[in-house]
Amino acid sequence: MLKGHREVLVSRETIAKTVAEIGAAINRDYDKNPDRPLVVISLLKGAMVFTADLIRTLNMPVRLEVLVASSYGDGTVSTRQVNVKYQSFDSLEGCDVLLVDDITDSGNTLKAVGAYIQQYKPATVRYCSFLDKPSRREVDIKIDYIGLDIPDEFVIGYGLDYAGQYRELPDICVIREGDAQ
Ligand code: 5GP
Ligand code: MG
Repeated sequence: MLKGHREVLVSRETIAKTVAEIGAAINRDYDKNPDRPLVVISLLKGAMVFTADLIRTLNMPVRLEVLVASSYGDGTVSTRQVNVKYQSFDSLEGCDVLLVDDITDSGNTLKAVGAYIQQYKPATVRYCSFLDKPSRREVDIKIDYIGLDIPDEFVIGYGLDYAGQYRELPDICVIREGDAQ
């Protein structure tokens, strides 16, 4: 549990406005061809709340898929090894794929998942991350859609967890070492 107060870093109002802006940018960039849905791959579990909001701002046909990649475990320090544990799709051949994550830190997760899905021969792959910690980047990756840059703080809420908890918080809050017990 957390002790002490939680500091709101991104309010639910700012979250909603930011999701709408990302959706508008995606709507501008892609064709609205009914025979060519946008394949949105949500990186679970963190991106599920953002993805649910994002797809409802899109005005094109969407095929929703999910992928589970290993990430932080229970701590707040990034592990560099990225493994795909589950994926919902069999084929992406010729598809426009949008990989959606909650937050980009080192960039290892998006880069590794992007490389992984290349074997499925998608036509295009773009990256979307609701939050970004640009100061933490370790790999070179161009993220096409970023909601908000944040400082190097560990955040929870809006799908983001600390040891499996707090994903349900409607605001994004900062958690610092010593706040958790
Ligand atoms: P990266 O591979 O870019 O270093 O890390 C990306 C993943 O690490 C994110 O999808 C997320 O699961 C996790 N992560 C990075 N920063 C944070 C954070 O501040 N809070 C939480 N809850 N997860 C984070
Ligand atoms: Mg993640």
